[in-house]
Amino acid sequence: MEEIALDPDPHLLTVMLSSFYKGFPPEAVFTLVILIVMLIISGLISGSETAFFSFQPADLNKLRKNHGKRGKKILSLRNRPKELLATILISNNFINVGIVIISTYLTTLMFNLKSHPVLTFVVQIVIVTSFLLVFGEILPKIYANKKPVIFPFSWLTLLLF
Ligand SMILES: [Mg+2]
Repeated sequence: MEEIALDPDPHLLTVMLSSFYKGFPPEAVFTLVILIVMLIISGLISGSETAFFSFQPADLNKLRKNHGKRGKKILSLRNRPKELLATILISNNFINVGIVIISTYLTTLMFNLKSHPVLTFVVQIVIVTSFLLVFGEILPKIYANKKPVIFPFSWLTLLLF
């Protein structure tokens, strides 16, 4: 309030935003770290989905010859494509729903939601959805499509299976 009082003619947007933003409390840092980790996991899962199903014959040979135990594991996962795809899609959805829930909690920590329904809509739906789509789905899939051999090594074979 003091900052606004100093300015004799504050811009309307400045007034709106300063009453909307509550600050960045310590628990928001923790929540943000969890969100970033979950977003990375969602990206790895989605990238693996593309990678597993876009191996070329040359990639399969490479896996068979050069990548030892983990390469064999990837090939054996690929031999059960229905189970693999179901596992990938279900875990990706779990993580994505978790991201939506936790980011909603984060916005309640950082923003004054009740007095600004439109800004709340913009933050919770537009921003969260764009981040989720760009970093959790689109970019990893584009990358995995170009380098499918590298991708599944990052997490799937070691952590989940
Ligand atoms: Mg994802």
